[in-house]
Formats: sequence, C-alpha cells, structure tokens
Amino acid sequence: MKILRLHGPHDLRLHDDKEPVPAPGQQLLKVTSVGICGSDLHWFSEQGIGDARLVSPLVLGHEFSAVIDGGACNGQRVAVDPAISCGVCEPCQKGYPNLCSKVIFAGHGGTDGALREFMTWDITCLHQLPEGLTDEDGAMLEPLGVAIHAVDLAHLKTGMTVGVFGCGPIGLLIIQLARLSGAARIIATDKLPHRVEAAKALGAQHVFLTDGGPSGLTCTCSTGAGRTEPEVSQILAANGKRGVDVAFEVAGEQGAVEDAVAAVVPGGKVILAGIPADDRISLPAGMVRRKGLTLKLVRRMKHTYPRAIDLVSRGLVDVRSLVTHRFPLEQAAEAFAVAERREGLKIIVTVNRGR
Ligand SMILES: [Zn+2]
Ligand SMILES: [Zn+2]
Repeated sequence: MKILRLHGPHDLRLHDDKEPVPAPGQQLLKVTSVGICGSDLHWFSEQGIGDARLVSPLVLGHEFSAVIDGGACNGQRVAVDPAISCGVCEPCQKGYPNLCSKVIFAGHGGTDGALREFMTWDITCLHQLPEGLTDEDGAMLEPLGVAIHAVDLAHLKTGMTVGVFGCGPIGLLIIQLARLSGAARIIATDKLPHRVEAAKALGAQHVFLTDGGPSGLTCTCSTGAGRTEPEVSQILAANGKRGVDVAFEVAGEQGAVEDAVAAVVPGGKVILAGIPADDRISLPAGMVRRKGLTLKLVRRMKHTYPRAIDLVSRGLVDVRSLVTHRFPLEQAAEAFAVAERREGLKIIVTVNRGR
C-alpha cells in the first residue's frame, strides 16, 4: 500500500509499505478523505508544533474519514476521532479526555496519521457516517469538533456580540456556530480577502481585512467601505463603540491576539484557539488586567462527534463550501504547497475514492 511520510521540512515522500494488522480493540481502515490542517503545516514547514519535534519520519493527517475493512461492520463508512485517550488518568476520569496525559494522536509525535491507504485505529474512535454525509464531510467533523469545543468554552448567550479573529476553516465554523447560538452580531477579521469574503457569506455582519499586525484594519462591509484606521477602533465602531462580548482568536498570530484582547468588553472572554509558530503568546498585561478578562485556551475537543454529525446532517452547519481544493495522495506534496500558501480554505487529500 502507498504511504506518505514527512522526512524533514517540505520533504514528503511516497513509499510502499505493507498493510498494517489490527491489534485487539483496533480496526483495519481504508482511508478515504484527509483534510490538511494548520497544525499539519507546522510539522510540514517547521518540523514540529509547540514543543513536539519531528524525530523520525511521520505520517501526517488527523482530519479523516475511512471505510471499515473486515469484521462485522465491513464496508461501513466512518469519521475517525484522531485522539485515543487512556480513560484512566485524572483528566480522563474528570471528563477531560482532551487533556489526557497519555493521549495518542494521529499524525503527531511518534504516532502515524491517515495519509496512507490503510491504517489501524481504536474501534472506540469510529463514528458511523449517516447516508447524507460524504467522506469529505466526515473529514470536516474534526475541525468542526474543535470549533464546537471553542464555542462550548465561551458559554455564548443569545444576543451577544462575537468577534472572530482569523477566518481559516475553524474560524469560519465558529462564525456559523456563533450564529446558531444566537449571536446578535458577528465581527470577523483576517488578512486574506477570500477568507473575509467567506466569513461574510457564512454569517459575519462586519468583516475587516487586517495587515496581520495589530493595526491597519480596512473595513470591507458596506458601512465602512474603503476606510483605513489604526487599531481596533473600527471594530468598536461597528458595534456602537462597545466592543465584543466574546473574542475568538483563531489565527495563531500575535496581531490577532492583540486585536482580540483590545476589542473585547471589560469582563469579557477571550478564547485562544490559534497555534503560534514560535510557541509564544504575549498580552498587554495592563489592559487585560484592567478589563478583568477571562482567557481560555482550546485544547482540541471532547465529546463533540455526535453533535458535529447532527449539525452537518441537519444542514445547520455548512462544511462543504469550505472545501476548495482536492488532490489525490500521489499529489499530496502539491496539496501541502497550496495549503502553505494559504490558497483556498480547506484542502482535502483523497486517499481512496469513496463517496
Ligand atoms: Zn487539525
Ligand atoms: Zn487519560
């Protein structure tokens, strides 16, 4: 079978390998669709993420769907939770499997991910895909799960104003979930024009194009077309100078963090979901203290697959319009290059053709 390994920065190689054999409690899977995530790009470009480094060749891919191969459920299409938590450590026992101290995560550290024709994975991580969901929809349930978890942490209330700083796939999913949760107004920023356009199409009322730093916003909504003002004064102006009740930082960039803390109301919440390339976040200490802000950090997700499947099945969240590029496994290097250039939104690698 074909398998794609990352050997070093920008060094992806397609190998031939033998089909894996499932251990007890595991299932052989024929991988169908794999999404490329911003976190995969950290491995691809920087040979690691946070304090995890590439020490031996790694198979990336943690947003994926598959078809069960063999056994009682042969042929069943599934979405696969990439995290295997231990179930017995203190965080697991307290209901936080996403904080498990012994977690095994597909395509991370020493655990190979889904960019290969066949793999084995824990049976407990498999979620049956309903008829109406495609394999690509199945791969999108993982980033949707992260977005659901981020919104869960925010405890949104009906009528709130929400800011989303960073409009990649997770930011665009948070916008849709905020709208579903009853946000009265959603303000979104990104440094790429096609992303702010997508944010507007998916429910943000005010969108701003940033220069990536904490200043230099250009409002592209009808009320403020063409104006350029420093700082977040435009974001505040878009909401009657009041600021946002909850700010989601989903860019992994210092400028977005600073915009988020500057735009949020005193006593508000800032949900930090982005992953910075240099493994550092800095905050204007005086401002966040004076505002008495609550900061929460998003660690992956927990218990979100059933809700994600329901939201997509019932047409409440649109994951399909986020998929802009598709490549076969043989062209995965090109897929990563496109993703690294931040073209499009979600790039999918089709490993085995399914449905
Ligand atoms: Zn991801
Ligand atoms: Zn655990």
